[in-house]
Amino acid sequence: MSKILTVSDLTVSFDGFKAVDDLSFSVNREELRTVIGPNGAGKTTLLDMICGKTKPTHGSIKFKDLELSKMVEYQITRAGVGRKFQTPSIYQDLTVFENLEISSPTERSVFGALFFEHTSESRRKIESVAERISLQGQLKTKAGKLSHGQKQWLEIGLLLMQEPDLLLLDEPVAGMSARERELTAELLNDIATGRSLVVIEHDMVFVKMIAQTVTVLHQGKVLAEGSMDEVQNDERVIEVYLGR
Ligand code: ADP
Ligand code: MG
Repeated sequence: MSKILTVSDLTVSFDGFKAVDDLSFSVNREELRTVIGPNGAGKTTLLDMICGKTKPTHGSIKFKDLELSKMVEYQITRAGVGRKFQTPSIYQDLTVFENLEISSPTERSVFGALFFEHTSESRRKIESVAERISLQGQLKTKAGKLSHGQKQWLEIGLLLMQEPDLLLLDEPVAGMSARERELTAELLNDIATGRSLVVIEHDMVFVKMIAQTVTVLHQGKVLAEGSMDEVQNDERVIEVYLGR
């Protein structure tokens, strides 16, 4: 299967402490990869390096045919990598529609006559993204009025507007109700067709709903990798993470 992301011998050291230590792993096209591991395992730091927020001390991050470790954040975003942070960066005072609208990559039509066509095209895109994130009935609602779960979905919607080929999500269901978690699992399974996702999550009930291949990080390294069943029954994973 063809790879969209290949991380090799990736290391970052903060004052001598290796938060990510010689880590290698890869993600296929259209794969939903889940990354789990104890607090401090280096999960967030790994995403920070993929999206260009943190520069690796050494190692390589290949995305398609690009070397991301040599690029800056906005170039990485433009190349097709979207990152969702734990706190949503939506505009509370704008409506759902407006939030999605301003996230649309700004490619103002140079063909004046086609401008009208262009806007109705972008309206259709906004509506289709809103439907995907289950906010089609809230287009005129101010983002600040949405529930915690809906805000998280809106943030995912903002990323979808950019049509990323790789989406990175850090603990997307933190603070959500059981029902919201179920809907988020459906959403992620749905958007994983046509693009690749790397999802960091702690909630094992949720992980089970989305898991294809699971990578377990521990002390900045890959401790285990496999199906949910395989990692759950792995002695080392039980020892350091899942408990007995
Ligand atoms: P996780 O997301 O798996 O809980 P993190 O990637 O946030 O773990 O952190 C991994 C380790 O690196 C932790 O021990 C954390 O304290 C440390 N760390 C992360 N970022 C920095 C930083 N900028 N400076 C120093 N230490 C950091
Ligand atoms: Mg983290």
